[in-house]
Amino acid sequence: MLDRKHPGHVFDVAVVGGGASGASATYHLSRAGLDVVLLDRNDLNTEASGRNAGSLHGQIQHEPFLEEGAEWAEAWLPALRFLADSLTLWDDLSDDLGTDLQVAKKGGILVADDVSQLAAIERKVALENRIGIPSRMLSADELRSLAPWLSDAVVGGELCPIEGKANPLLVAPAFARRAVEAGALVRTQTPAVGFDRDGDTRVIRTPGGDVRARRVVLAGGDGMPDLARHFDLDLPISSGAVQVSVTERVDPMVAHLFYYAGGKLTFKQAQSGTLLIGGGWPARRNAAGEWVVNPDSLRANLAMAIRIAPMIADLALLRTWTGIGNGTPDHSPIIGPVTAEGDVVVGFYPYMGFTAAPLMGRILADLAQGKDPGLDLAPFAPTRF
Ligand SMILES: Cc1cc2nc3c(=O)[nH]c(=O)nc-3n(C[C@H](O)[C@H](O)[C@H](O)COP(=O)(O)OP(=O)(O)OC[C@H]3O[C@@H](n4cnc5c(N)ncnc54)[C@H](O)[C@@H]3O)c2cc1C
Repeated sequence: MLDRKHPGHVFDVAVVGGGASGASATYHLSRAGLDVVLLDRNDLNTEASGRNAGSLHGQIQHEPFLEEGAEWAEAWLPALRFLADSLTLWDDLSDDLGTDLQVAKKGGILVADDVSQLAAIERKVALENRIGIPSRMLSADELRSLAPWLSDAVVGGELCPIEGKANPLLVAPAFARRAVEAGALVRTQTPAVGFDRDGDTRVIRTPGGDVRARRVVLAGGDGMPDLARHFDLDLPISSGAVQVSVTERVDPMVAHLFYYAGGKLTFKQAQSGTLLIGGGWPARRNAAGEWVVNPDSLRANLAMAIRIAPMIADLALLRTWTGIGNGTPDHSPIIGPVTAEGDVVVGFYPYMGFTAAPLMGRILADLAQGKDPGLDLAPFAPTRF
């Protein structure tokens, strides 16, 4: 057999993108006995998968529900089902990968501080229940017994018991480590800059030389539009940096993932004791065009957090960072083949791709092997736009 680093070597599958989605796909493919190479333009886990807030989402997000309406939410239910199915995979993931990923699924709570917010939450809960997600309304008293530190202004909310949190710094590296143990090759600092064909083989052009593979999985996150253009596909993926903040460590007090019905806010307590505060507040570009922390967003984000949880005012803030978040116009993922032969497949989940990564990787691995993933992918077709 040719040396796998030899330019003529043909891999069974090349995966482009070493975030959580691509690392998960590489794990599943290598465990299935395939000869796999994982390419990343940087190091592994340096983009969204390593910069996110670690929320494991399983409810319709309140902000798009208000903005896009119930009709949108109904059409989005297959994407929610995808998250719910991925959430079940998180249960055994630490054991599967041999790493404590700090997964805790104690539920997510959407808090209202105005009675006028409750009717929309009720409609949202009804839609979630329709696909079997056991979310329910909470009274103000129930909320206070679950989280006594909440502001006196809270009037009720929603509990979505399937939600939780995990540590994003650990997940993609753990997938990749297990994949390497199963025989995968990882090549970092290796951008895919062009694609060609040589018979049945796809040739991926990189500055360090060509990589050949029978099948290709594209899991490039923010790089996906550029990658798809090589296959004559324009993917309408939006891109903009948002920011997350972390406080000092405190004793365990916040068991759930929290959201606020009145604005952009999520917070949770990491296993280390720090509080992670986010919600999708935009970063800004500096004079050099680089994404940097936006102090206006930071102030507004923290003010909202303190309004719901006044105890946050007493905590020291350690750090705020930025990461590029990506969306699609219908908030649904993009999954499927992008060539007539079906030998190149894409996988992208907007806004909540950390939650989706365990299932995304499994499905991409199935598609790359020509297997039925056991899921209707029609709502997620790359050609739907
Ligand atoms: C600040 C922030 C907070 C977030 N919070 C949450 C959250 O709490 N919960 C949640 O579920 N989701 C959250 N998200 C979204 C989530 O992080 C992403 O949806 C998810 O990480 C996407 O994973 P991915 O593997 O598809 O892409 P990425 O993690 O972006 O990985 C793509 C990889 O592809 C590589 N790449 C791209 N182009 C090329 C190329 N041409 N050649 C080689 N390599 C290439 C990149 O270097 C990168 O490593 C958040 C995102 C941000 C930015």
